[in-house]
Amino acid sequence: MNARIVIVQPMGFRDRSLMQRVLELASQEAPPWVRIHAAPWSVEPPIEAFDWKRRQYRADLINLFLHEFYKTREPSNVLVVGVVRGDGFIGELNFVFGLASPQISVATVYTARLETASLDKTASRIAKEILHEMGHLLGLNHCSNPSCVMSFSNTVDEVDKKGPGFCDTCLRKLSFKHKSA
Ligand SMILES: [Zn+2]
Ligand SMILES: [Zn+2]
Repeated sequence: MNARIVIVQPMGFRDRSLMQRVLELASQEAPPWVRIHAAPWSVEPPIEAFDWKRRQYRADLINLFLHEFYKTREPSNVLVVGVVRGDGFIGELNFVFGLASPQISVATVYTARLETASLDKTASRIAKEILHEMGHLLGLNHCSNPSCVMSFSNTVDEVDKKGPGFCDTCLRKLSFKHKSA
C-alpha cells in the first residue's frame, strides 16, 4: 500500500520553529501510511482572496489558488494543506478555522484565532486543525466524540478540549478507506 503524501504549505509566514513543532505533533497522530512534509518556503496568500471590509480571506479562493499552484508541480495523489497566517471565512459563516475541498485535494487552516503567546499551545491547535482538514480530504466526516480531532469546533476552547489525534473509530475508517482506495 503506497504512502499518502501530505504537503503542509505555510502561507504568509516563515516561523520555522512553529512549523517544526506543528509537524512533529501532526506526524505523531497521523496514520502510519501518511507522510507529512512541510514545504520549506512560504507562499503569499493571493491578494484577490482578501476581503478588505472583513479583513479575512475567502477560504474557497485560497484553496483554488493552492490547487493551481501545486497541480503542475506535484503528482495528483498528493494532498495539500495550507496554513494561512490570518483569518478565513466562507459564505454565511463569520469565520472558519479551516476548510477542506476534497474534490481538488486541498485544504487550508487559518491561524488568527489559534495563536497565543505559547508556541506549544499554538502549535498544538494548528496541528489538530491540520489533522481535522486532512481527515476530510481522506474522506472522513465530523465525529461525535468530543475528544477526537474530527469533532466540529465552534470555538478555540473546543479546539483545546479535543485530544491530539483521531479516535479509534476514525482511525479504523481511515485505514478501511486507504485499503479500498
Ligand atoms: Zn470539519
Ligand atoms: Zn473520531
